[in-house]
Amino acid sequence: MMALEKNIQPFDHKIWLASPTMHGDELKWIHDAFDKNWITTAGENVNECEKLLAEHIGCRYAVGLSCGTAALHLAIKLAGERLYGQPKPNEGTLRGHRVFCADMTFDATINGVAYEDGEAVFIDTERDTWNMDPAALEKAFEIYPDVKLVIIVHLYGTPAKMDELRAVCDKHGALIVEDAAESLGATYKGRQTGVFGDYGAISFNGNKIITGSSGGMFLTDSREDADKVRKWSTQSREAAPWYQHEEIGYNYRISNIIAGVVRGQMPYLNEHIALKKAIYERYREGLKGLPVSMNPYDAVNSEPNFWLSCMMIDKDAMCRQVRDEKEALYIRESGKSCPTEILETLARYNAEGRPVWKPMHMQPIYRTNPFVTVEGNGRGRTNAYIRGSGIDVGADIFRRGLCLPSDNKMTEEQQDRIIEIIHRCFL
Ligand SMILES: *Cc1c(COP(=O)(O)O)cnc(C)c1O
Repeated sequence: MMALEKNIQPFDHKIWLASPTMHGDELKWIHDAFDKNWITTAGENVNECEKLLAEHIGCRYAVGLSCGTAALHLAIKLAGERLYGQPKPNEGTLRGHRVFCADMTFDATINGVAYEDGEAVFIDTERDTWNMDPAALEKAFEIYPDVKLVIIVHLYGTPAKMDELRAVCDKHGALIVEDAAESLGATYKGRQTGVFGDYGAISFNGNKIITGSSGGMFLTDSREDADKVRKWSTQSREAAPWYQHEEIGYNYRISNIIAGVVRGQMPYLNEHIALKKAIYERYREGLKGLPVSMNPYDAVNSEPNFWLSCMMIDKDAMCRQVRDEKEALYIRESGKSCPTEILETLARYNAEGRPVWKPMHMQPIYRTNPFVTVEGNGRGRTNAYIRGSGIDVGADIFRRGLCLPSDNKMTEEQQDRIIEIIHRCFL
């Protein structure tokens, strides 16, 4: 590591949080699509990449869609129909029903609940994997015993406590939609994430562990569900000589060009995971001695894909930091720091970090939705900004945590520089 006295040079090229890593095979499959003139939402790339993903993940069917959000939407819609029947044409399947939702996540995890007219009830996060807290979920069923659907995510590629969450859901007869958008290739008790829910979804967005530039997949073992998603995603055409419609349709199918990119990326998934893991471990070593910890995972039962490396600052090493809805301020303090200081400092050196996902219960669009936590004031809303020690887990991780530059293509020297920059924030 660099000596402390030396000036740190800004990076010539931006160090990204996570950018696409292409290998060349992707172009081969794009050319193949051009050569055969399958420039549409069908073709060999679509079939092959569905096959590759289903085989790798260990599910019977993977249906290629335009994005992970579409996969989650149709997964949620399937669950809604199974639970509550087919809705009227102008209503969502979840109208009049509550759904238990992961709280600390990207909003795409739960957009489908709103698309289907459901009411999201947010479940607080636990501190061992930064995912849905089984104890808070159990408490939520005590408050809302009628709920039959739970949406779980594996944040930053770290598997959630699936056995505990599944046990709570089974006890209350609830279905699970599993958002594995960030966790492709991660395993829990030896099985790939994406197979633990009643319905699963993955994403090939540009910053994910492998990418198609966009794209996603719906995962299932049910032939019937796979067929239904294929039909819904291609405008719900009935088998008839003309365009015949009995249900609302969507234009959600993956393109054969994008499927070609995914097909070309798939052989490199494990290589990407190994690179991400090395980055995580290098941070863990490099940040030793600072009052911080890395995003945690269950090393006995799970192997994350280490999509993003994150860190959290110890409570008593936080300088003062205030955030309103759009801006943040902090007061510099010797021996302490905060996410805002570290992110702003990294940006000055041309490196991209990010705050951890701002919990959904803190988002203006969901301000009036219920939130269930076992910490803080229990049921109802907690305000992270005015409460002292009693804030909920999600708000606490948001306050003290940040995502570190985790790009595959970052060199060891560059990562050392980033580590040194972080050390200096605490001087
Ligand atoms: C990226 C992501 C999605 C959505 O995937 P898109 O392909 O971008 O639509 C959903 N959930 C989580 C947690 C994600 O990170």
